[in-house]
Order: sequence, then structure tokens, then C-alpha cells
Amino acid sequence: MANADMKNSLKKQMLKITLVPLTLMTIAIVAISASIVQKSITDQIKAELIHDAELVGFIFDEFYEGEFHIEEGEGENDYEIYKGEQLLNGKDTLMSKLSRIQNIDVSIFYNDTRLLTTLVDENGNNAVGTKAATVVKKDVIEGGQPAFYDNVIVHDTKSFAYYKPFFDENNKVIGMIAVCRSGADVQQQVFHYVLPVVGVCIVVALFFGFIMVKFNGKLAEKIHNMDRYMNKLANGEFDSEMPRELMATDDEIKSLATDGKKMAKALKMLVEFDALTELNNRRSADKKLEEIRIKAVEMGMKYCVCIGDIDFFKKVNDTYGHEMGDVILKSVADKLKKGMTGKGFVARWGGEEFLLIFENRELDIANRELSMILDDVRTIYIPKTDKQVTMSFGITALVPGESTDESLNRADTNLYAAKESGRNQIICK
Ligand code: GH3
Ligand code: MG
Ligand code: MG
Repeated sequence: MANADMKNSLKKQMLKITLVPLTLMTIAIVAISASIVQKSITDQIKAELIHDAELVGFIFDEFYEGEFHIEEGEGENDYEIYKGEQLLNGKDTLMSKLSRIQNIDVSIFYNDTRLLTTLVDENGNNAVGTKAATVVKKDVIEGGQPAFYDNVIVHDTKSFAYYKPFFDENNKVIGMIAVCRSGADVQQQVFHYVLPVVGVCIVVALFFGFIMVKFNGKLAEKIHNMDRYMNKLANGEFDSEMPRELMATDDEIKSLATDGKKMAKALKMLVEFDALTELNNRRSADKKLEEIRIKAVEMGMKYCVCIGDIDFFKKVNDTYGHEMGDVILKSVADKLKKGMTGKGFVARWGGEEFLLIFENRELDIANRELSMILDDVRTIYIPKTDKQVTMSFGITALVPGESTDESLNRADTNLYAAKESGRNQIICK
């Protein structure tokens, strides 16, 4: 029999084919949505930084008329940056305000050197004098084109940055306006958007996972119960109940269960019943005898055991043919069955012999009831003749504690006595 704990039980297989794809799908959805969010935030930041750089340029133009130009100062590497007539060195109030309002850092470069900036390090030191990354120098200063970076080192910090070159009167790049946001800042923003997406994905996956596991579990449980039923059938338990839930839904399992029930019935008929008389056969009679032997001892129930035999049956066969013999056998079986209804058990014991078990009765009561059954048998005539069918019976009370053979032998002896003393009668001892 299949076992729910077995290594490859259906339940475990179903769990696998449910949870593995669901988990992979959830991971894929989370990864795809995270990358979409990351991309759209990066695009948005790029647009914002470009806009901010334009805004810085515009504000400088509005406040300080004229072009950017650089004058060499007194010391080495000492430069003065002008916008028109206005010296900008040290005058970073405008940039500081812009930086605060837009939540960005602004720098003005001479070549690749920061001359003016809102950037400060952890210790609060202004980043004036620091250099732009090599790639920026190559793209913007040497290439003369504005550029956006989503992972450039700005003053030792990974940043999103936009660099816009400015030119002297000869159209030569002399510096850049740069706006940037720290990568950590942006990452925080990405998390801010991605986390709810991840949360929703996980909740939805858990919900579907729960439903699928529950549904698959039910299905596996049904198949497991079906397997248990089939196992009982294989062990000859033809009367075992078909679990109700297998018949509940109009599906293949119900169809299997219906076939299983039919099979149980057919097998029971084959194994426990006699095909001609449709009475229980000797095998089931033996089972019944063992059952009542135990019940008589354990529960003190009273039983009477009886063997009946058709009189001169060989003659019926010889005179009217075997087929007529079968017809008579069937008629007798029907009378016995009818007569024993509500009184106990009847089986074809073999040939033209029958076993009758009277349940919960004293011997005298059983004897009286048996007389009525014999009377009924006597109403059978061989068709189209005046030949009456009779039977002889030997009946006895089952004594608690004795073996089945002992009570059967007593009934048999009584039957023999009935035959010996003229047939068509009951001997009760
Ligand atoms: P008695 O009164 O002593 O019982 O005589 P009897 O002729 O009935 O007994 P006997 O044992 O000599 O014969 C029994 C006959 O029952 C022999 C056998 O052919 C017949 N018989 C057994 N089973 C069947 C059956 O299934 N069909 C038919 N037609 N006959 C059967
Ligand atoms: Mg016989
Ligand atoms: Mg006989």
C-alpha cells in the first residue's frame, strides 16, 4: 500500500511541482519589477539632473551676466573663476541654496578640477580642488559633450551625476557645471519603491501557494484514501466503506470510486456467493461460523446451527435432467432465504446441502421456525408433475466454547438420523 510518508509520495511530488515553479516565478517577478523600477528611477533621476544642470546654468546667467572665464591666481594651481565680471570663488551661497532646494550637489569645474562646490566630505571639508573622474574628463572635457553617469565616483562616493561643459569665446571647453546625487540616496529611493512591490509579490505568492498546496493536498489525500480502499479490497474486505469525500465531486476520482464500488460488489459476489442459488457460499459460511463461535463466547449470544439436505435429489437429476435439478435447487434456495430473513444466515453448504444459522434464539424457537421453513419447501413441486420436493434437517444449539466442528458434527448427526428415520423431517438435539 502507498504510504503518505513514502519518499516519493504523491503529496510530496505535488508539493514540489507546485512550490518550485511558484517560487521561481515569484523570484523572476521580483527581479524583473526591481529592475524596471531601478531603470525608471534612473531615467527619472537622469532627467532631473539634466533639468537641474540647466537650472543652475540659467540661474547663473540670470544673476551674473556674461560668460564663464578663468583667470590664473597668484599661487600655483590657483585659479579664479568668473561669470562675466563676477568672481565666483568663495561665493557659493547661490549654489548652496540650489543644492538644498533640489537635494543635489552642485560643482563648477575648471577643466577637471572643482573650483566651486557644495560637496563636503564626512568631516565637513569642502571638496574644492578635487578632480573629476577620468571617464568624465575624457567624455566631457575632451569630448566636449554633456554626459550622465549612474555609477561614477564623486568625491569618493558612488553617485549619479550629470556634467555639462561650458566654453570660452573660442568655443574651447574650459570647465563643467556638474550636478550629482549620491548612489546611496538613490538606492534608498529604489528600495522605497521596490519594497512594496516585493511585499505584494510575496503576499500574492503565499496566497496562491497556500491555495495550491491546499488543493493539491486534498487531491493527494483523495488518491491516498482511494489507495487505502483498494488495499482493503485486495485483502478481501469487500464491505469496507468507500470514503465519502471520494464521491463528493463529479470528477475522475468519483468515477474511479464508483468503479471501485462496482468491483467490490462483483468480487464479493464471486468470492462469497454461489452463482446458481445466489446464497452465501461455503467460504463465507465458514467465516460466519468462526464469527458466531467468538461472539457466543465473548458476548454470550445464542445460536442454533442447522444442516439441511434435499431428499432423493439424485433421482430428480436422473429422472428430469440436471437442468431441472438446478431449477429445484434455486427454488429451494429461494424458500430458505425467504424463511431465514430476519432470523439469521443461510448458505449453500455444498451440492444440495444448506447451512442455516439461527441467531439470538433458543433451540425450541429455532426448531419451530425451521418447521415453517420446511413446510414452505414442501410447497415446491417438480414442474408439470405431482412430485413434491422435501428436505431433511438436523439442528442443534451452539454450545459456547466448543469448536465449530463439534457443533457441525452434531447437526450432521441429526441430519443423518432424519434421513435414516424416513427423511422429510427435522431432528433437533
Ligand atoms: P438423500 O436423500 O440421501 O440425500 O439422497 P440424494 O439423492 O439427495 O443424495 P446423493 O448424495 O446421493 O445425491 C446428491 C446429488 O445432488 C448428486 C449430485 O449430482 C446432485 N447435485 C449436487 N450438486 C448439484 C448441482 O449443482 N446441480 C444439480 N442439478 N445437481 C447437483
Ligand atoms: Mg447430500
Ligand atoms: Mg440429498
